[in-house]
Amino acid sequence: MDKLAKQYVEEFMAGIVAKNPNEPEFHQAVREVAESLAPHIVSDPVLRKMKILERIAEPERVIIFRVPWVNDKGEVEINRGYRVQMNSAIGPYKGGIRFHPSVNLSILKFLAFEQTFKNSLTTLPMGGGKGGSDFNPKGKSDNEVMRFCQSFVTELSRHIGADTDVPAGDIGVGGREIGFMFGQFKRLRDEFTGTFTGKGLDWGGSPLRPEATGYGTCYFAQEMLATRGESFEGKRVCISGSGNVAQFAAKKATELGATVVTLSDSSGFIYDPDGISPEKLDYVMMLKNVYRGRIKEYVERYPSAQYFAGERPWGIKCDIAMPCATQNELNGEQAQALVDNGCFCVAEGANMPSTPEAIAIFQSNKLLYSPGKASNAGGVATSGLEMTQNSMRLKWSREEVDEKLHSIMKNIHEMCVKYGTEEDGYVNYVKGANIGGFMKVANAMLAHGVV
Ligand code: NDP
Repeated sequence: MDKLAKQYVEEFMAGIVAKNPNEPEFHQAVREVAESLAPHIVSDPVLRKMKILERIAEPERVIIFRVPWVNDKGEVEINRGYRVQMNSAIGPYKGGIRFHPSVNLSILKFLAFEQTFKNSLTTLPMGGGKGGSDFNPKGKSDNEVMRFCQSFVTELSRHIGADTDVPAGDIGVGGREIGFMFGQFKRLRDEFTGTFTGKGLDWGGSPLRPEATGYGTCYFAQEMLATRGESFEGKRVCISGSGNVAQFAAKKATELGATVVTLSDSSGFIYDPDGISPEKLDYVMMLKNVYRGRIKEYVERYPSAQYFAGERPWGIKCDIAMPCATQNELNGEQAQALVDNGCFCVAEGANMPSTPEAIAIFQSNKLLYSPGKASNAGGVATSGLEMTQNSMRLKWSREEVDEKLHSIMKNIHEMCVKYGTEEDGYVNYVKGANIGGFMKVANAMLAHGVV
């Protein structure tokens, strides 16, 4: 980056930090994008004059609300609900809902900001948004989760709609929660529209939506691997997380011939040197999705595996790493351990799982490294396909959706190569995704005037 671009980034970031104090995750996500875009912006007087990036970094609207509900003991509980409507330049706001005790404005703004670029990369007409609550679904009964979701949506329903803002799932929000939220929304509005995605197959959901983020991450990794004449066949893969994204990333990687050796949750990770076979993965899905158990129970069932309490899986030798749990779950030291152990490809299923230090290590060692906003875009892309099917009042087959998902992931990869290839031929997927995602949003904002 030349001096002028560096100066632009520092001045821009000083403004962001002053205006959004105590929001470290938001600062981190914005800085990464600003660093990719700065050379482009300083050489384009229109983008500078129209303050496009400055406007993209300011949410169009943030809604914060009280979510009161009654637990099974009859006690009143109060959580905080949020929806960040970040950018609607290219379509209705679109992005998941997260239920986790760590949820705050910084986390939701970083996710909504990333979502704007990711949704643009999919080529589908979707703006960026994200929402959630500090509600912790862990240990709650189905009835408690239902009462919470109903209270959450009673307020949120004023601000969303099929052509306005279409929420989906994220951490702590799966099929059960989407069902409760959609049910209450339908009751309040007296309409059956595609205002939520991730719906059940019998009531407006798209085939393959549950699988889409994990599968899409593998499809993107396949494209990256192909640039070096490689594939998943015969590779060892470390995956973190054991939720929606991790489960289906593990399933597809295994189908493509790899051996997945780790999974994790917030308490620790399991290492199965023999590989997590399809049968073992079926057990994990039952354990996590039906019994809502913990990943350590895996070693009780499969004693040849080991459980490491309080640790993350990045010290285990692998060829391919797929962080699929949460933000900043892979730091510089862990990135170095992966490199030292021969890992040559990192495909992010989670949003911003690698710290800036980790990314610098991957890139300086010329690893194939894709940021979540490119490689995990298959989830929201399939949500976009669900919206299309809902608008058309029809349902495509699993094969049709899979084919479309495949081609979207290929397109995103091509876009990253187009904008991210450096002089020595190395593809900087971070730069490629940021510039590729920015262009369409910026052009739309220029066309719409100062709004
Ligand atoms: P789930 O709730 O299904 O699973 C989350 C997994 O990550 C669980 O294993 C959870 O463990 C673990 N986890 C959560 N928080 C932490 C933490 N602080 N430290 C360590 N582990 C943690 O969520 P998803 O699989 O849907 O989401 C995973 C990631 O993928 C997130 O970054 C999300 O934003 C991203 N993503 C999801 C999409 C989707 O379609 N669902 C789309 C695109 C991105 P535990 O059970 O202990 O909490």
